[in-house]
Amino acid sequence: MATPDTTVQIRSKPALSRSQVHSLNLSFETSHPTEIIRWAVDRFGNHLALTTSFTDTLLVDLALSIDPDIEVVFLDTGFHFAETLDVLRRSQVRYEMNLRVERPDPETVDLWAKGSDACCAARKVAPLDRALNGKEAWLSGLRRDDSTSRADTPIVSTDRRGLVKINPIAAWPTREVAAYVELQDIIVNPLTADGYESIGCWPCTERAQPDSDTRSGRWPGTPRTECGIHL
Ligand code: SF4
Repeated sequence: MATPDTTVQIRSKPALSRSQVHSLNLSFETSHPTEIIRWAVDRFGNHLALTTSFTDTLLVDLALSIDPDIEVVFLDTGFHFAETLDVLRRSQVRYEMNLRVERPDPETVDLWAKGSDACCAARKVAPLDRALNGKEAWLSGLRRDDSTSRADTPIVSTDRRGLVKINPIAAWPTREVAAYVELQDIIVNPLTADGYESIGCWPCTERAQPDSDTRSGRWPGTPRTECGIHL
């Protein structure tokens, strides 16, 4: 079995200092997501990417309203639900996306025998590392309301690569998210209406547990809560 390609460029000096990150988080805490995205586009230009799992098109819709050319990265693990791929297809019809689909190295097609850590490393983490090579910053759709483990999600941070990671909707109130989704007719994966409140790969996703957070259906029966791309 081939070793997964985990080649990643680590910046010797992050694009933002810790004090800059701190100041930005303070100033963005009550900002509308479009203000945050505007700052990111102005600051990083075409060295900025957006990642999405196409559970919905909320972040894509917000970001393309600011910069229609922003690179939209989708990690095609090979294990997505058909409904997720249909959201991707409908998104391509609706938006003129600068889409980059990143797939795992074909030599590492089956790492289940080594467990979900190895599988996510090969199918998600390594492909994202490749997609972000040459970038300075990336947008992600993490929200503090997703789960207790995401309750402290910062709007701006520095990731393990030294890149600036921006979560423009981290602090966006749920009622405002719902209003935007309805007003803009955001495309939403129909599985969410069937109890799948957080959607990843089909082998590792079940309906959310009653009275639990939205990510409680991910990696059911294991202590795992994240795939590793948000480090
Ligand atoms: S979520 Fe599951 S199927 Fe998808 S990459 Fe991770 S371990 Fe593999």
